[in-house]
Amino acid sequence: MHKQWFAAFFLSVCLPLGAEPDFKALGQQALKLSRDYIRIGSVNPPADTRQTAAFLEKLFQQEGIPVRLYESSPGHVNLLAHLKGSSNEGRLLLVNHMDVVPADASRWPVDPFSAALKDGFLYGRGAIDMKTTGIFQALTLIALKREKVPLKRDVLFLASADEESGGEHGAQWMIQHHWEDVRADYALDEGGFGTPDLLSADGSLIFGVSVAEKKVLWAQVTAVGTSGHGSQPVADNANDRLREALNRLDAMVKAKGQVQSSLLDEFRRRCPAMADNKFTRAIQRDTLSITSLRSGVGEPPKVNVIPSKAEATLDFRLMPETQLQPFLTQIEKLWSDLEGVSLQVLHATDPTPVSDYNTPLFANIEKAVRQEYPQAVVTPYLVPFGTDSNGFRQKGVKAYGLGTAVLDASIVASMHSDAERIPVDQFEPALRIYYRCVAGYATSP
Ligand SMILES: [Zn+2]
Repeated sequence: MHKQWFAAFFLSVCLPLGAEPDFKALGQQALKLSRDYIRIGSVNPPADTRQTAAFLEKLFQQEGIPVRLYESSPGHVNLLAHLKGSSNEGRLLLVNHMDVVPADASRWPVDPFSAALKDGFLYGRGAIDMKTTGIFQALTLIALKREKVPLKRDVLFLASADEESGGEHGAQWMIQHHWEDVRADYALDEGGFGTPDLLSADGSLIFGVSVAEKKVLWAQVTAVGTSGHGSQPVADNANDRLREALNRLDAMVKAKGQVQSSLLDEFRRRCPAMADNKFTRAIQRDTLSITSLRSGVGEPPKVNVIPSKAEATLDFRLMPETQLQPFLTQIEKLWSDLEGVSLQVLHATDPTPVSDYNTPLFANIEKAVRQEYPQAVVTPYLVPFGTDSNGFRQKGVKAYGLGTAVLDASIVASMHSDAERIPVDQFEPALRIYYRCVAGYATSP
């Protein structure tokens, strides 16, 4: 054997790749830290993240990991921790949000902020969305530091303040005001699930890694007409006009059906037996939910009075391929013969790019998942809801929504619900996948 070849062979076989952490101990620590973290109720509104940021800051400081706090407005604190790599290229940002949506304690089986353990689950607001993932990310940095893993790439950790209100004081603010600090080539964020039944109809274990998300279009429809006595119907009743307008709109959105998308083609190729449920239907087409209807005179509305105004709010979620302006023009045409009906756009997200998934980081996700679950299918897909990732994708970051715990559809559905929970036995494997994915990427040449 040639001397150089021998040296290369010797190095590749015998050089220790760095001992792996004690994942059992780390999994237990993840559970304990997640419980402590959930008990700090960082409900949005008002998304006061001073305490959660102090909690994470202490965690990193104890391990000697550089950490910095950024207060975007009173009470809204963001946190950035940073592990340096030897190269300036390929920076990886782990993104999580510290705020959670409110919880109606009277509807919960346990106190939503007690982090109770019950029937093999950790219950609590933020158990899935997304305090546990934040802890997996933090412990990944900590384990890399403790094991003195020789990093080629920088690994950063951003805990943001108000994702649940769109990120104006959180990720968006960091991107606008501290881009140099958070800039990255890649980001790992929420939006992915490992699941045997949410995405597949035949029980195969699918890890959906989101590379895109749908656009939000919120609008209000107002119909006006002639008021009068309910005993004598009028031809221009505002309620009739609103009903007709909404019926047409609903029919238009439904008629459009599945949207042509190369991302979905790839998803169907990797997961041919796609499940049919509200989640999978929502990621294949534009959707409309009518979220409020308001009309009538008096409170409660008088039964015998025809009102002169009726309103509805609409939550459209549009595929990345659907262009906003042509969509609005189509609605205008649809209602062109309807008098007294108008649509006002309340909020529309900027375009939502699709992240390339033929990348070293995506390959490392696939590898780390298969190391844990050899039969699992890893596929790019999109999520029907918005995340902090969109702001990063607009800056050219390849952002992936990665969830490394295996969750049944019913557990995924507990997100934002009155019984949000995560299986306790998932902490160790979920953390192992997270760590291996990040370590594998950050140490590769
Ligand atoms: Zn979330």
